[in-house]
Amino acid sequence: MADIAPWLMASLSQVQALKKQKKLSHALLVTGADGVGQEELARAMVKDLMCEELDQAKACGYCHSCQLMTANTHPDYRVLDGEEGAIKVDHIRQLTQRISQKPQVGQNKVVLITHAQAMNINAANAVLKALEEPADRTYFVLTTSQSSSLLPTIRSRCLLVNVPTPNLAEVTSWLHQQPDGDELASLFWLTTQPFRLLAIEKQQKTAIYSALPEAIKALLQGEKGVDLVLKGVSSANIEDYCNGLAAILHQCINHSAGATLPSALADLYPLIMRRMSIQQIMLRYQSLQKLKSDLLKTNLNPVMQLTYELNQW
Ligand SMILES: [Zn+2]
Repeated sequence: MADIAPWLMASLSQVQALKKQKKLSHALLVTGADGVGQEELARAMVKDLMCEELDQAKACGYCHSCQLMTANTHPDYRVLDGEEGAIKVDHIRQLTQRISQKPQVGQNKVVLITHAQAMNINAANAVLKALEEPADRTYFVLTTSQSSSLLPTIRSRCLLVNVPTPNLAEVTSWLHQQPDGDELASLFWLTTQPFRLLAIEKQQKTAIYSALPEAIKALLQGEKGVDLVLKGVSSANIEDYCNGLAAILHQCINHSAGATLPSALADLYPLIMRRMSIQQIMLRYQSLQKLKSDLLKTNLNPVMQLTYELNQW
């Protein structure tokens, strides 16, 4: 198994130790800022919980349950991902029905709910009920970046596992060990959250973001037209262009207030500041955020919308 990111290690060891001592709570809530790796930590914890070697801290990797977990086909393990859409009560009911039965393979059953803030109120109440009347040998593992939006009664029933936000040096050294990590480290102007960067790489969108500061620089220097800058925009990636442009503006606003400017924007910052006041930059930033949320509701022509935006720069 690949090593888990170093800043997740302490929390994982803590949970493994509790498991070994048979003192682990049947409900765990993994919290942390978006993109620090709470899902990765939860998935590692779940593997340990599903292992049939109950006296061991870590998953053995060899038992039938471990093999089924590796193959992603364990019948006693269920996942709901809130990132795929709202989690509704029917989803939870299906799960709780399943886990009310005996484990089919190993000793434990696990329900993992990632991005648990996507549970609507009925779903949350159904989870609460399941936590209040825990089925034998059943674990609930929830992850969220918005712990305060969960029911306080759910929070209070869970063992809280808080993932610390790694500092820039930790992220840089970890990225260095990932494929294309160096290119990802050049995107710190966009985000310094390690698993958000990794998700961009997995979606093969690194190139879109890497090229953006240079393209905007060429635009503002009159070397490139808006049409060329937006040549690759489609409905599949317009959100990325909005994110990238908004991040550039956000860094300019922050830097004008004294924050350090990421080196990738060093040439771009004076060009933007020459053309727009801080108030105008803020307006354009808000406009990009609005465009992003409108994309979900309407069939706007993405190129037309972004062309209008960039013409204001
Ligand atoms: Zn095992």
